[in-house]
Amino acid sequence: MTGRSVNYLNLMREKFLGMGGKLMLQTRAQELIRDDAGKVVGVRATDKDGNTVELTSKAVILASGGYGAVKSMLPKEMSNYVFYGLDSETGDGYKMATAIGAGTINLDLVKMYPQGVETVPGHGLAATASSTDTMKKSGAIYVNKLGQRYVDENAALGVLTDKTVAQPDHIAYIVMDAKAWKEYVRKSLEDKLVPNEETLMTWTKIVNNGRPVMAVSDNLADAAKTMGVDPEGLAKTVAHWNDMVKAGKDTDFNRKITGGLGEGPYYIVEQKVRYQTTLGGLKADADLRILDKAGKPIPGLYGAGCVVGGANGADSLTAMMNSWAIVSGVVSAESAVKSIK
Ligand SMILES: Cc1cc2nc3c(=O)[nH]c(=O)nc-3n(C[C@H](O)[C@H](O)[C@H](O)COP(=O)(O)OP(=O)(O)OC[C@H]3O[C@@H](n4cnc5c(N)ncnc54)[C@H](O)[C@@H]3O)c2cc1C
Repeated sequence: MTGRSVNYLNLMREKFLGMGGKLMLQTRAQELIRDDAGKVVGVRATDKDGNTVELTSKAVILASGGYGAVKSMLPKEMSNYVFYGLDSETGDGYKMATAIGAGTINLDLVKMYPQGVETVPGHGLAATASSTDTMKKSGAIYVNKLGQRYVDENAALGVLTDKTVAQPDHIAYIVMDAKAWKEYVRKSLEDKLVPNEETLMTWTKIVNNGRPVMAVSDNLADAAKTMGVDPEGLAKTVAHWNDMVKAGKDTDFNRKITGGLGEGPYYIVEQKVRYQTTLGGLKADADLRILDKAGKPIPGLYGAGCVVGGANGADSLTAMMNSWAIVSGVVSAESAVKSIK
């Protein structure tokens, strides 16, 4: 098979339907049904017209994803992070299973990345490719709200995330001159982050917590003031940065020199820590049987994907989450089938 996730999903749907599977769209599972012995034997759901539907089965596999869309389920310090996942990530499977005594693990962990642009309060875009490319090809810099650089802008994403988390309000501001902005626009369009440059410009009108997501000005200090970045701190940083560029060495963070900050207009974009994947969830064993608080399997209940916690530790490897969803789907299905034979 070639192509990306959409092709994979289409292929799996065709296979599923071809084998006699029935898809019930817009039907939301609400509750697990158990028999008198406590075995899970089905789910109670609500269809799009509000009717209650009961589905019974010999085993149930929860595969309802994570809970990133529900900020109240995450630690307070993450309230300023930007969620870039789906509204359906409401932790339903987690809620249904804990309601019958399932154990949980690592609920306070999410996979974090830098460079989230908050286009809707609390939600946003993963603007990593545009930012990292701009940093490699121009003299743009990241500063905190004091106007200070705090990292080698070309550091690995994990380093950028950790350093951003350590800044006031966990915010990194990318400061670009006209040349850097061209690169930012080019990569944003190439990556289909936005459909056109006009959409990027609408960021100047999106206001969260009293400040826009982006400021544009011929005057760097004015752009900084609009964003809530200390203009004097920023002016000092830029002068020092340009001096280091002239001398050919970043003596502060050892960044490879690819130019200084030159002619405006200047563009400053607010970037927050972003997350989608919740790494915590229900406790499961190696057969993906869901465990109760005492560590005993709940009869008839299995889990796959993000509803199961702990499999990826405190930080997953790149591309590991899709792999986990697929592999855990296979393992849980095999276990469930074995249990009913
Ligand atoms: C923009 C973006 C980019 C990503 N890029 C990558 C990447 O490059 N590599 C990678 O490995 N991972 C990536 N991920 C993460 C990966 O997509 C997820 O980790 C993975 O899809 C999780 O799979 P899942 O089956 O656990 O949950 P989901 O894919 O979220 O599927 C859960 C399904 O359950 C449904 N559901 C939820 N509640 C109920 C309910 N009560 N009743 C019935 N149905 C319900 C949902 O509608 C959804 O269809 C990305 C995610 C996003 C958002």
